[in-house]
Amino acid sequence: MTFDYDLFVIGGGSGGVRAARVAAGDHGAKVGLAEEFRMGGTCVIRGCVPKKLMVFASEYGGMAEDAQAYGWDLEVKGFDWTRFHAGLEKELDRLEGAYRNTLRNAGVQTFDQRATVVDPHTVALADGTRITAKHILIAVGGRPFVPEFEGSEHVITSNEIFHMKALPKKALIVGGGYIASEFACILNGMGVDTHQYYRGNQILRGFDDECRNHIATHMQAHGVHIHTGRDIVRLEKDGEGLLATATDGSTDRFDIVMYATGRVPNTEGLGLADAGVKMGLKGEVVVDDYSQTSVPSIFAVGDVTDRIALTPIAIREGHAFADTVFGGQKRTADWELVPSAVFTQPEFGTVGLSEEEAAAKGAIEVYTTAFRPMQTLFAGRQDRVFMKLVVSAQTRVVLGCHIVAPHAGEMIQLAGVAVKMGATKEDFDRTVAVHPSMSEELVTLRKPTRKT
Ligand code: NDP
Repeated sequence: MTFDYDLFVIGGGSGGVRAARVAAGDHGAKVGLAEEFRMGGTCVIRGCVPKKLMVFASEYGGMAEDAQAYGWDLEVKGFDWTRFHAGLEKELDRLEGAYRNTLRNAGVQTFDQRATVVDPHTVALADGTRITAKHILIAVGGRPFVPEFEGSEHVITSNEIFHMKALPKKALIVGGGYIASEFACILNGMGVDTHQYYRGNQILRGFDDECRNHIATHMQAHGVHIHTGRDIVRLEKDGEGLLATATDGSTDRFDIVMYATGRVPNTEGLGLADAGVKMGLKGEVVVDDYSQTSVPSIFAVGDVTDRIALTPIAIREGHAFADTVFGGQKRTADWELVPSAVFTQPEFGTVGLSEEEAAAKGAIEVYTTAFRPMQTLFAGRQDRVFMKLVVSAQTRVVLGCHIVAPHAGEMIQLAGVAVKMGATKEDFDRTVAVHPSMSEELVTLRKPTRKT
């Protein structure tokens, strides 16, 4: 049987673009790719990239204050969202263009429309065109989940926050995960009176407890109003704003309410179940380690598979898929010891097990340090950096490394190499400190804070 394509990819995000580029450019496959929105996907268009630019934008106010302490004669008159937003749009256009070029240069044919699966070898485009392919890759990502409650239609999500016409005076962020905590810090840094409601007792559930507490304390010290144990029961229009009634009976008025209460796989109406693809309870595509679904010709990578919802993981899954299916090299991504960063202020970099996870598995030694870093101390700030190594008492292997500090994301990338290599505490110790730096503290942690 002949097909129109060797591979047809649905979704032009991190995973789909990498798979298409490698399959066509490196392995000579004939590849088509359909994207219904903008090329680049969540990460580039409405996720990591614009978020990080907003993080940078929100940090300059504090940096300008610190600059004054360093002798700079500056006057900060406030943040201009409109000016920043114009620059943001321009940068996203540039990046989208770069993604398109990458695909074009690799010989991938792109279709700017929605595609759905008809059967194991056929997709239908929104304009009615049917296309056959030997393999189909589902890389449609996820979308924000908003629970149903009275007035839930008034909320925005991370999809809309990048398109605000103006900066709100007072904002509410609901949720306690990556996205909620990052945006609470961003808006606060931009001068917005920012409140965060989280239903549990501490934000960033799942991460190391001491780090969560450290981050929350600093966020609050910097002005974010974190209300734990609080959720919304009702939202009503109140003039231009919204009146929120919470589970504890309190009411407050906000200009915007943003929900960041998790993301769900984007599989609705995609035709997968009808084509025989096994789906999970959350609507995720069930795959094996090679990203193959229950239908042998259909594969899936990235957030739609609900494995680890991080761009670099989607990229690796897409690359491994292309190498396996078109390059004759059977390989999988590696989901162990994945370093990641939460771009809160203060920033959090983490790899490996939290103290709580490690303690549940065996005897550990925990090394911690908290200190005021010289750069901000000089400027009169009370902010503290916090670092922790979780070490196996038996093997001495560093099971987890957690850093709450400016640039913690940059630090954890490198510490992640050591942890991934199976470094022991003694390997850290025999590495000479880089002085004066913050990260040198990681190699000078002499006595355990506790043993459990
Ligand atoms: P998360 O799963 O991290 O957090 C969801 C939050 O919403 C949790 O605090 C959860 O509470 C809360 N929640 C869930 N359902 C409800 C509900 N019905 N009512 C009230 N609160 C609710 O999701 P995010 O949306 O923040 O992020 C999605 C994924 O995107 C992340 O898991 C991450 O992999 C990725 N991401 C990574 C980033 C990075 O690397 N820096 C940045 C942004 C996103 P509870 O804890 O009680 O369950």
